[in-house]
Amino acid sequence: MGNGELKGRVAVVTGGNGGIGLGMARGLAGAGATVVIAGRNAEKSRRAVAELTGLGAEAAAIECDVAEEAAVEALVRGAVDRFGRLDVLVNNAGMNIRKPVQDLTLAEWRRVLDTNLTSAFLACRAAYPVMKRNGGGKIINIGSMMSIFGASFAPAYAASKGGIVQLTKAMASAWARDNIQVNAVLPGWIDTDLTKNARKEVEGLHDRVLARTPAARWGAIDDFSGIAVFLASHASDFVTGTAIPVDGGFSVMG
Ligand code: NDP
Repeated sequence: MGNGELKGRVAVVTGGNGGIGLGMARGLAGAGATVVIAGRNAEKSRRAVAELTGLGAEAAAIECDVAEEAAVEALVRGAVDRFGRLDVLVNNAGMNIRKPVQDLTLAEWRRVLDTNLTSAFLACRAAYPVMKRNGGGKIINIGSMMSIFGASFAPAYAASKGGIVQLTKAMASAWARDNIQVNAVLPGWIDTDLTKNARKEVEGLHDRVLARTPAARWGAIDDFSGIAVFLASHASDFVTGTAIPVDGGFSVMG
């Protein structure tokens, strides 16, 4: 991978300005894709675009709050207006509010669901006609170990990530005949801003993750470059509706 197999393709990566999204954006850019980064923080996005451009890729940022319907539609429109097509959509933007269910407000529940799950529905709905017109496309949705396991401290997050997997299967079944493959990636515990906060808020988390992960390390954002290229390229044309763990073996530990 990384031999120009995505040359001429245009990819949108939500939350591509940092963390796992940036790791995926690096992989896609390294394989020749034009990458459009969507995030809220303009300075982070500017830095990410500079980095991707430095890899020799064409890259741009579009400011977007993925929890807003109009903003997500404008993102897809903006990418297509600027680059003429959309081949790959990575729904990666996400956040967590760590509270037990009895303490979670309805507004907090909605914020997590809107950011992590409804955003993917909105982006996919906007991308579908464009991909169909192009003759196909690739959608990559980011789930979590909490798509599989329970989490006493993250009920809304776990619901959103379980929903991502089911939404992935629904769209994979609906759009296979349009040559659109839809897959989910389930990261294990990865060292990013998101988990830096978790390590502060959940006592003992750092060591528990190390003890429970067969690879005996936290994941790095560049662990997501290869899976992004695979799921965005022709190599995965007969792979759809799956949820692939990238977790150093976390999900197979008894
Ligand atoms: P980070 O906090 O490092 O990055 C999150 C990204 O999402 C940022 O680039 C942020 O951009 C963007 N984002 C958040 N909210 C919004 C919003 N409303 N609109 C637009 N962009 C938004 O987190 P990770 O890289 O760790 O997480 C990426 C994905 O991976 C998430 O879906 C997360 O749930 C998932 N994941 C992460 C795991 C981990 O261990 N790190 C484990 C399992 C899943 P900006 O700051 O510009 O808004």
